[in-house]
Amino acid sequence: MSKLQSMTELVGPGDKSVSAFDVEQVRADFPILSREVYGKPLIFLDSGASAQKPRVVIDCIREAYESYYSNVHRGAHHLSQRATDAYEEARVIIARFMNAPSENNIVITSSVTESINLVAATWGRKFLEEGDEVVVSEMEHHANIVPWQMLREEKGIVLKVAPICDDGSFHLEDFEACLSSRTKLVAITEVSNVLGTRVPIKKLIKIAHDHGAKVLVDGAQGIVHQGVDVQDLDVDLYGWTGHKLYGPSGVGILYGKADILDSMPPYQGGGDMIAKVTFEKTTYQDPPYRFEAGTPPIVQAIGLAAAVKYVEELGMGNIAAHEHGILAYAHQQLADIEGYHEVGTVPDKAAIISFLVDGLHPFDVAAVLDRQGVATRVGQHCAEPLMDRMGIEGTVRASFGLYNNRTDVDALVAAIRKAKEMLS
Ligand code: PLP
Repeated sequence: MSKLQSMTELVGPGDKSVSAFDVEQVRADFPILSREVYGKPLIFLDSGASAQKPRVVIDCIREAYESYYSNVHRGAHHLSQRATDAYEEARVIIARFMNAPSENNIVITSSVTESINLVAATWGRKFLEEGDEVVVSEMEHHANIVPWQMLREEKGIVLKVAPICDDGSFHLEDFEACLSSRTKLVAITEVSNVLGTRVPIKKLIKIAHDHGAKVLVDGAQGIVHQGVDVQDLDVDLYGWTGHKLYGPSGVGILYGKADILDSMPPYQGGGDMIAKVTFEKTTYQDPPYRFEAGTPPIVQAIGLAAAVKYVEELGMGNIAAHEHGILAYAHQQLADIEGYHEVGTVPDKAAIISFLVDGLHPFDVAAVLDRQGVATRVGQHCAEPLMDRMGIEGTVRASFGLYNNRTDVDALVAAIRKAKEMLS
């Protein structure tokens, strides 16, 4: 099987047939990539934190504000109807992208952080009792640790942590050993935002289900690199965040199976989520509206749908194959730098490189990189327990997106060499 085929198999229904992917043409879609910083071309290697936006997304947002912006649902005028149609169409587009059975499976939130907190505060509060177990992994983002700790303080649940190996690999046998008859939920990242490790999520879900546990996947880093097919995965709950998929910030998604969403009480109370309100008693809407109290992120959701259409047009298989090629090239070039160490070295990882350089503090390295126009991220990457597990204080992280090219890799390598020269 060719690499391209194997990468294509990873992706969901957002994939179009594999065709030529011209990265230079793609770059031209992103206005910000033509700017300079400190008089040098911008080399943007921080898409794992938040990705840049293509012109179609920027134009779509501008058009919404300029020509039909209004509040959604029940407005008695033309603009409100237009805005409602666009907002609800966004839900349909997102449902199709994830291969959800219906748009009613799609709750629009403000971020994946909110999606996870929503599950903890509703499903968790209702169904978890003292002694029940939630299993996470050692490589979770804080967004998928802290909500469960808060629930532990409130309800006395037990948080179990599936281990990873020194190279960042995740093994299903070690995971399965953490499950017991008290395991009610597995809440796990699909791709580590630090190590790039891909969790074999489909097999994991099967194992968890065989033990009677539900699975919530933090897809923040997964969906951008490999798409998702929620029905194929048979996942119960899947959260992600718009700004990492080339959409605006301020919008996230929670997919849930219909019976699970139906069983969940409301999250926040307010307008839009109610069926009838009296001072004596209030009844609630069905999902997904039950979980969308107040004015939602209207234009953000519309902009996210434009981003989804953009990546669908490029083809998730093409994006995955392109990023795989860039990662392989980066590995080749970086290997020649003396004292360079990657943290998280599993083969077939996503295009995220965390690294250290012998004798140099990562913050100093990142500062020199910045002066060369190379934008990376430094520190613990909201994964402090993972840093403790790896015995390090932090890393420099270069994360690649669909617009990165070999020139970006060459600039990164040259900037690391410069950092060594200046700081050693
Ligand atoms: N989960 C993972 C794996 C992430 O990488 C991130 C962001 O870096 C988050 C959760 C939180 O995303 P947001 O801040 O958009 O909610």
